[in-house]
Amino acid sequence: MQEYGLFIGGEWTDSSTGETFDDMNPATLENLAVLQVAGIDDVNRAVEAAKAGFELWSKTPPPKRAEVLFRAARIMQRQKEELASLMTQEMGKVLAETRGDVQEAIDITYYAAGEGRRMFGETTTSELRDKFCMTVLRPLGIVGLIAPWNFPIAIPAWKIMPALAAGNSIVFKPASDTPILAIKLVEILMEAGLPPGVINLVTGPGGTVGKAIVRHPDIRAISFTGSLETGKWIMGECAKAMKRVSLELGGKNPVIVMDDADLDLALDGVLWGAFGTTGQRCTATSRLILHEKVREEFTARLLAKTRTLRVGDGLLPETDVGPVINKAQLEKIERYVRIGQEEGATLLIGGKLIDPESSGLSGYFFEPTVFTDVGPDMRIAQEEIFGPVLSIITVSSFEEAIEVANNTQFGLSSAIYTENMGNAFRAVEQLETGITYVNAPTIGAEVHLPFGGVKGTGNGFREAGTDAIREFSEVKAVYIDYSGKLQKAQIDTD
Ligand code: NAP
Repeated sequence: MQEYGLFIGGEWTDSSTGETFDDMNPATLENLAVLQVAGIDDVNRAVEAAKAGFELWSKTPPPKRAEVLFRAARIMQRQKEELASLMTQEMGKVLAETRGDVQEAIDITYYAAGEGRRMFGETTTSELRDKFCMTVLRPLGIVGLIAPWNFPIAIPAWKIMPALAAGNSIVFKPASDTPILAIKLVEILMEAGLPPGVINLVTGPGGTVGKAIVRHPDIRAISFTGSLETGKWIMGECAKAMKRVSLELGGKNPVIVMDDADLDLALDGVLWGAFGTTGQRCTATSRLILHEKVREEFTARLLAKTRTLRVGDGLLPETDVGPVINKAQLEKIERYVRIGQEEGATLLIGGKLIDPESSGLSGYFFEPTVFTDVGPDMRIAQEEIFGPVLSIITVSSFEEAIEVANNTQFGLSSAIYTENMGNAFRAVEQLETGITYVNAPTIGAEVHLPFGGVKGTGNGFREAGTDAIREFSEVKAVYIDYSGKLQKAQIDTD
């Protein structure tokens, strides 16, 4: 059994607690590795190492920092197949998707590396004579990065690479369900030449290790992706300490299929959005808002296609839908199916966990599930289930579709299928989400566009895209007076 340590100050070390935890393959329930449970002392050690790392890295010219990232991207490219296979074993999603996850990490690494030569500020004039004004970007300091399990390498890379390009040092805690891919990413950065102390990795439960990172006074900013509940707690703690915090939280993403939609296209998009990654994407389609005129035909075709989806181990080429991540998640999905039935929704297909005895599948598998007759205020239409469960809500107009789509506390991704260009543009204007797709599913972000949500999904920050570096930088205004005398702004007006 492979054992992994904590990574502090450029070295792999054991934790101070002496405790370990197992990392399990959700498709087979086999143990993949043994990990360290870090303690508060280890977080403190990681912060001390990050202080030394910051001294060095923040003074390294950004194009030089970028060279490390370019090398890391090339190493990842070389290891893509190996990383993807490992990820399927650790997290469960099918190989095509884990290859995509690694590719996303490669893309953001190249993107952030490119930003190394684009650390642009602004120059402007002064209201006074012989005075020059500009802005420069400065790193924040030590940043705490906390990631979820559903994109085991892409989400860490979305945080780590821009944070490094901007000159910060890092204390990173991956999700306890997917630590191996995080460790591989750190190994890649070290092979690429990142100096010791610049990235430090601590593994262990969010409730202790994550909390210690959030509360550490010398960590200047937290970047967190995970659930709304945890995000709210983190935001409260950071507010008390006046600490910067960027949050990427849950979703209840709607796809609208209008009566004028290309139904073949919409069908492929809905299936991929709802059941890709076993519905465990923050951008997964969990509500299908269907125009009543196409309700019967579209629902029949959706069911026929859902029936053909093959559930199984993501390593097998025939598998369409892999396992869910863990037992707690499996039980949560089961609970929501019961809630949906009790609320009066009609279960059309699925709704059960897959029995290991009769199926030969020993892991955490759940049938792709579709509900119809779902009311917009039912809990299955409001709360994030994070599994292969789709709720169909019928509407009779474009206006009603938008109203239903916006009737949620979340605001990450939305999609509309329509051939009416006016309605497509109106949807872009009116849907209250950070991302809107037209004639494409709710999933499929690209790294050069900003990623994030509104309302309960986030707190205004965006990851990747043009905002990637800003998330991890301070903007400083600089005034250079070469008049040789005291000039008073707003007072010396001549
Ligand atoms: P989670 O339970 O909130 O955990 C996320 C991370 O936070 C894990 O590393 C976890 O550690 C850690 N953590 C837990 N409690 C903590 C605390 N009190 N203080 C600090 N860290 C803590 O979320 P999850 O179930 O792993 O992830 C699924 C959620 O993430 C869904 O809601 C999904 O929508 C959201 N998500 C959002 C985006 C986006 O960009 N908007 C992307 C992907 C996922 P442990 O693993 O040790 O518990």
